[in-house]
Amino acid sequence: MNERCDVAVIGCGPVGALAANLLGRAGLRVVVLEKEREHYPLPRAVHLDHEMMRLFQTAGVIDRVLADMVATDGHLHVGADHGVIRYMGTVGKPKPFGWSNDYFFYQPELEAHLRAAFADNGAIDLRLGATFTALEQQGDGVTVHYDQDGASHTLAARWVIATDGARSRCARRSASRSTISISRSPGWSSMPKSKARSRSRRSPACRPMPISSACR
Ligand SMILES: Cc1cc2nc3c(=O)[nH]c(=O)nc-3n(C[C@H](O)[C@H](O)[C@H](O)COP(=O)(O)OP(=O)(O)OC[C@H]3O[C@@H](n4cnc5c(N)ncnc54)[C@H](O)[C@@H]3O)c2cc1C
Repeated sequence: MNERCDVAVIGCGPVGALAANLLGRAGLRVVVLEKEREHYPLPRAVHLDHEMMRLFQTAGVIDRVLADMVATDGHLHVGADHGVIRYMGTVGKPKPFGWSNDYFFYQPELEAHLRAAFADNGAIDLRLGATFTALEQQGDGVTVHYDQDGASHTLAARWVIATDGARSRCARRSASRSTISISRSPGWSSMPKSKARSRSRRSPACRPMPISSACR
């Protein structure tokens, strides 16, 4: 195995794509493995807030995404019976980050912008049709196994970030001391709230998962 990178990002949904932009901008060599050839054509996430706008600034993608963001003063959740489930309003509230408190967006557009930014944001290599299969701890790094174009490949990385969605194979089956799970979660947030709370006491970011044997 010859190929090496600083960080292998497994999965290129919005979380993986933003992580890759942040890491690339920090000067790291990043390889992103995405099993699909095209990003998913339907929206799932629809709303974000001012903190995300700051993160888009930090990642150097704000100019790409801003035109497709619709600023609002809160949102109304309406059920199938047309009854109001809840109203979350931000009318008149301070805007401490200099951005509106609420934005709506169309997820396929956002994902396209985040991927387009790879080209101007550091050394980010997106491999489409590349399906993560396994990983092994190797000293202080990790060997990532993936399939692409009918062949098996390996990649040596210092760190792996598991952003392969709520059913993350990478996070669930391949715990490693060099693996960080960001998007393994049911529901709407990137971590279950209970875990997010306990993790946030240790570190502002997700902590590395405990070491275990290789997942194959
Ligand atoms: C109906 C619905 C509504 C939702 N509404 C909201 C909402 O309003 N707000 C909100 O924040 N969230 C919402 N969500 C959740 C939403 O899906 C997530 O917020 C967001 O898409 C998660 O992004 P992600 O990058 O973590 O994962 P994903 O978008 O799931 O991306 C994971 C990526 O990993 C890839 N992948 C998976 N396995 C592998 C593998 N083995 N090898 C390589 N690549 C792999 C996938 O192809 C995919 O591209 C909704 C979800 C659904 C289903």
